[in-house]
Amino acid sequence: MRIIELNKKMFSFKIIKKDKNTKARLGILKTPHGIIHTPNIAIVATKGSIRGISFDLAKKFGGEIFMINTFHFFHNDRYKIVEKFGGLHKFLNINYPLMTDSGGFQVFSLGFGLEHGVGKVADIFPLEARINADNNNTNKSRIKRINHELNNNEFEINSSPFVNNSYNNIRNKFAKKNQKSLVKIFEEGVEFISPYDGKNLFLSPELSIKIQKILKADIIFAFDECTSPLSSYEYTKQAMKRTHRWALRCLEEFKGTKNQVMFGIVQGGEYEDLRKESAKFINSLPFFGFGIGGSLGKSKKDIIKVLNWTIPLLDENKPRHLLGIGEIDDIFHSIEQGIDLFDCIIPTRWARHGTGFTSKGRINLKSSKYITDKKPIDPECKCNVCQKYSRAYICHLLKEKEIYGIILLTEHNVFWILNLFKEIRKALKNDQFQQLKKRLLKYW
Ligand SMILES: [Zn+2]
Repeated sequence: MRIIELNKKMFSFKIIKKDKNTKARLGILKTPHGIIHTPNIAIVATKGSIRGISFDLAKKFGGEIFMINTFHFFHNDRYKIVEKFGGLHKFLNINYPLMTDSGGFQVFSLGFGLEHGVGKVADIFPLEARINADNNNTNKSRIKRINHELNNNEFEINSSPFVNNSYNNIRNKFAKKNQKSLVKIFEEGVEFISPYDGKNLFLSPELSIKIQKILKADIIFAFDECTSPLSSYEYTKQAMKRTHRWALRCLEEFKGTKNQVMFGIVQGGEYEDLRKESAKFINSLPFFGFGIGGSLGKSKKDIIKVLNWTIPLLDENKPRHLLGIGEIDDIFHSIEQGIDLFDCIIPTRWARHGTGFTSKGRINLKSSKYITDKKPIDPECKCNVCQKYSRAYICHLLKEKEIYGIILLTEHNVFWILNLFKEIRKALKNDQFQQLKKRLLKYW
């Protein structure tokens, strides 16, 4: 009891304003390492660093919380080193709010990524992936055909360009040797082959929570089974029930933990009855907040549907985090449905691929059309890169594969996305969210 009271003092979530026209809200999430103004996004620092930019600079740009992936401290036993330091804050030498995921997403996407030909995070909507791969957004008959393939399970697994080759190589080696799948799910936990060194690994709800307690992030997530957008209804249901049993085991393992809070995760895929059942169940447990995970449908427009079923069943006084989603249109649509927190690798990953955010949509700075362009990446952006450098210079650096090109573009992208969240909060405060949404989504 004393520990619960202590945690209550250190962590709190308060809604300070609700939008009149939508389910959007402004909130303040208090943690022992600082305050997070919501809606907000956790910049992802996968292995303990934000690729291409320091925590301090991201913090200066308005980053209020960072997401680190437990999987990358688990598969190599590196969490044991972090333990010797007394947690991630000390290991990374930062004093900012942190969250860790459970490690489950990486494990399960390793399984369904191979079985269903669905990639991780950015390629999680197979319909979008196919449309983009075909590079033909306007061909309605093609989209109709892909829809038909998806609905009839005729999705061409082997032709998907999104299955990572290294996974394929390991899968093939393993399959030849053992004639088994790469990921095996049991009631106890999940057994899988490391994509890094082929080692046999086992992760359970208890072990995930134990490791997350060692890592000591402020907010941790329950261990759940993340299903693929191509999982059947029956399979999604079975996985959701298992996730519910695992949620209870996570809470048991977490009991009495100080200075950390845990979010439970709602599953149920794209199926209305399952999402509702999962939302009710997870809502009945003593989690501090909620993550909404798993497949959100076959295309981006399904997100709204899934959130619309889920969110009204969750305690409105607790924070809600949409896991792994962070494209600009998704952010606006999800905030409108009542999402408070996001985490996404897009700002840094896109930068590494030469893509920059701008208020007029994304631009590919590797394209030769920018090599003589004297304008900044985004003429409306106030970041240091946009004050100092031209598109031409960044295009030149990227073409020459100079690391500094990626660093500059990462700095801009991280600044830009954090600034967007500041604008969103300001717009919600001033009842101008719809105007901001309309202005941005004209280009996104
Ligand atoms: Zn900029």
